[in-house]
Amino acid sequence: MTKKIKTINDFNFENQTALIRVDFNVPINKSYEITDDTRIRYSIPTIQKILYEKGKIVLISHFGRPKGISSKIYSLKFLVHYLSKQLKVTVNFHEHCVGETVRKKVNELKNGEILLLENLRFYKEEEEENENFAYELSKLGDIYVNDAFGVSHRFHSSITILPKFFGKKKCIGFLMKKEIQFIDKFSYGKGKRPITILLGGAKISSKIKIIENIINFADYILIGGAMSYPFIKMKGGMIGDSMIEKNQSIENTLKKIFHKNKNNIIHLPKDVIIADSFKNEANTKISPIHSIPNGWMGLDIGPFSIKNFCKIIEKSETILWNGPVGVFEFSNFSYGTRSIAKSVANTTEKGAFSLVGGGDSIASLKMEKCDQKISYLSTGGGAMLDSLKTQTLPGISAVIQ
Ligand code: AMP
Repeated sequence: MTKKIKTINDFNFENQTALIRVDFNVPINKSYEITDDTRIRYSIPTIQKILYEKGKIVLISHFGRPKGISSKIYSLKFLVHYLSKQLKVTVNFHEHCVGETVRKKVNELKNGEILLLENLRFYKEEEEENENFAYELSKLGDIYVNDAFGVSHRFHSSITILPKFFGKKKCIGFLMKKEIQFIDKFSYGKGKRPITILLGGAKISSKIKIIENIINFADYILIGGAMSYPFIKMKGGMIGDSMIEKNQSIENTLKKIFHKNKNNIIHLPKDVIIADSFKNEANTKISPIHSIPNGWMGLDIGPFSIKNFCKIIEKSETILWNGPVGVFEFSNFSYGTRSIAKSVANTTEKGAFSLVGGGDSIASLKMEKCDQKISYLSTGGGAMLDSLKTQTLPGISAVIQ
């Protein structure tokens, strides 16, 4: 991030109504209990600053994918009790986002009061960058605050269009500020060295541009999971029936990456656990990654690779991790990913900075009960990946303009 972006510290909210776009799309169980409140917890300081300054707050968020249709299942009403308890202030709720009744509710707000509005995605216009919808929303506040990192890579009305109506009175909240600051350690190589980035998962198409960028800044790039097979294949390896995502654009970018990898920044697994079918109970053996027999597929990194990856992580000062290094959903192929989780957590305890994003990586940290040891758990996997391609996220550009 090179351009100066205003944060809520640049404003005093006394007598002002803050319209805060938050991301309260939290996972819940069948009883509507929140199973991971990270996204809300990280936005609490933003809300508290405004409350402390005696501003008024209107919260807008999405929840799930109701696709423009209102329904009880996707209502945000269940959050009222939780938020009131967390903030020690009564949080009011209104079942619409736009219209006369909402404006009336907002006008009745007193300093230090909070109004949570219903799910933005009950309006199909939210996902259509709709000017009229955004204009109606803009009537609900004096200052626009974006604290919804998890959707800031989306071209949605409340993210990219709404801020246009606020002139200079728009900014980001504390959650967004942290995410940007931490990602900059990697995407621009600003972190303490050695800087290590570990990318796993299956879809290389979503991460290959990141590798192309960070190879200019990182000291080590570790690649695991099915993401590693296009690299092995390009080097002439035999990958048997392992999962591989292939297309011309991936191959062209890979060639460029190989060309840039003169200093051997990229580290691939050397051995893998192979299976004779894609199931937890499959027969398994350890194989060199370059010579997987037909009829077999690599589903986890092997012991030598775990050791090698962990050794690099342990000597790193700044670590980013996104994506499992195997099919960690199958317990028999989760060892690699869980070992990485422990290694990142232990290295953080010894003083390194760690940033972990993506649902799978965070889930594996939780499996090992070490999620609390990580310096920062990103609240947006997709947004984090887009930021690492050094694209300014559309939600951030909209606040800068
Ligand atoms: P992604 O959405 O690209 O982050 O991919 C996540 C998925 O990759 C997880 O569901 C993993 O099970 C899967 N995955 C990781 N390694 C492998 C592998 N070697 N073979 C097949 N799937 C894998």
